[in-house]
Order: sequence, then structure tokens, then C-alpha cells
Amino acid sequence: MKNFAIAVHGGAGTILPSLMTPEKEFAYRNALQSAVNAGLEILKTGGNSIDAVEAAVISLEDFPLFNAGCGAVFTNNGTHQMDASIMEGKHLEAGAVSGISRIKNPVQLARVIKEKSGHVYLCGEEAEVFAQTCGFRFEPNDYFYTEERYQQWLAVKDTDSYQLDHTEKLEKGEKKFGTVGAVALDMQGNLAAATSTGGMTNKRYGRIGDTPIIGAGTYANNETCAISCTGHGEFFIRAVVAYDISCLMQYKGLTLAEACQFVVNDKLVKMGGEGGLIAIDTQGNIQLPFNSDGMYRAWSHADGLVQTAIYKN
Ligand code: ASP
Repeated sequence: MKNFAIAVHGGAGTILPSLMTPEKEFAYRNALQSAVNAGLEILKTGGNSIDAVEAAVISLEDFPLFNAGCGAVFTNNGTHQMDASIMEGKHLEAGAVSGISRIKNPVQLARVIKEKSGHVYLCGEEAEVFAQTCGFRFEPNDYFYTEERYQQWLAVKDTDSYQLDHTEKLEKGEKKFGTVGAVALDMQGNLAAATSTGGMTNKRYGRIGDTPIIGAGTYANNETCAISCTGHGEFFIRAVVAYDISCLMQYKGLTLAEACQFVVNDKLVKMGGEGGLIAIDTQGNIQLPFNSDGMYRAWSHADGLVQTAIYKN
């Protein structure tokens, strides 16, 4: 059997069994499984890892419980401003977008930016003008609306505070990050990664997190690994998390597991950066480290056996 593999995440944070209903847990696991299956369909017929991560992230963006696409959090003026990026490891080509509010699947726009814009990273209204020239359809604001996210925003709306993706049930100080992402290795040995998010509730001043920043929230390199991150973006930017893991492998000879362990459970912890990531190397080894209570995650190797997990262990 030729080697291929895929992993996805739906965010990290304070995700505890006591804060979950069985129905919601079932819905989350189903969504994660569907995303892996969307990618596997492509990989098992010899398709590209970039197509696989795009398909998996689209599937997660369409699922309203995650903070990406439909279900994205609200900004301080009641809009949605979404960020996404995608990268392939063979030629190190990448596309990224931030601050868009009308595109159903931001990861698709990131992919088209990579392939057609002549640039790597576009933002805001001008990015949407580019999307329009490429034939993207715009969605009305209420496509992205969910009652849960709206209530989260109302709770902080007229304050100066901005929140990571809290849920109603969380106590003060508890956090949940609902960003989504995927990493994959295809039969040709090519790695790819993609990440998509609505960012933080009540964010303002055009705040952008790690998700669309190549090397921070997303990175892929056929010599080392592919990475997609979730967590408190400011820390992930400052720690250059995704590229750091690749560098530890390339320049210091660490294994994927060693590099992930150091960055997520040592470096980030010392800085105070909460979150996690999904990672895959050139052999199809998968790592899913996080320093928070939980991380929505699912993965499969070439045997097609899809596994899902939410909490620690
Ligand atoms: N990393 C994202 C950000 O800071 C948040 C998340 O992972 O949910 O925008």
C-alpha cells in the first residue's frame, strides 16, 4: 500500500467532558470524521495533498460549530472578518487572505490567491475584489451568523476586551479556540497544510492572528513537515510556531515528535501561549500536540481507519 495520511483540527482550548453534551460531542466527532473522509477520497485515488487539505478545510468551514466560514465569530462592529492560508511543500508555494467577510470558503480564496494572483497574501476589500474577478460568489452577512457566536459577542460587545472563542458554558478564564485546519501527505510524497478562522470575538483595529501568516499558523515543506496551528494567535506569531518546528527538523535533526514537543509543551508554555497544532512528516507520521485541555482532532493513515479525539489522552 502506498503511503499517505491526513490529519485535521477544529480548534484547541478548554474543552472538557463536563462542558459537553453527548449530542454536541457526536456532532463534533461526525464533522471531524467527514473532513478526514473528504481528504481521504482524494488521497486514496492518488490525488494531491493540496487538494486534500483544501477539501478537508472546506468541510470544516461549512460546519457551524467551528469558528471558520459559517459560524465565524463576530468582530467589535458585528461583522465577520475571516482569515485563511494554504501551502504546499514541493515548491513552497503559498496563498493567504485576511479580513474578508463575504466568501463562503476562505480557504478556497487562499488557494486561488496562491495560484492566480501573483502574490502570496491579500487582505480586506481588495482581496474580495480579486475574488470577484475570479468568479467567487458573495454570501450575505447572515450566512455566517450562528446564535451561539452572537451571544458570545453580546457578552463583550461594549467593552474593550476581545475574546478567544469562548462558549456560553465556559467559566471566566476558560478558553476554546475554534479555528480549523488540515495537513496531509500524498502518494507522491508531497506535503500540504491549510488553516482557516474567524479569529477572536470582538476583535478590532483589523486584528489578524497567526492563521493566515505563513510560518506562524501554517507551513509545509517536503523536506520536513506540514503544520496547521490553533491557539492564542499573538503567541503563535511571536514564536513563529509552524516554521520553528520545520527548522528544528531541518537544521537540528529533531524528529517531528521531538520538535513538536519542544515548541508546544516547552517554548510556548514558557511564553504563556495556549493552544496546539497538527503535524505530519515525510513518512506520514502524525503528531497532534496541545498544551490546552483539549483539541478537536481526527486523523487517518493509508488504511483508511479514521480516528477522532477531543480531550487529553
Ligand atoms: N489562532 C486563531 C487566532 O488567533 C484562533 C484560534 O485558533 O481559534 O486568530
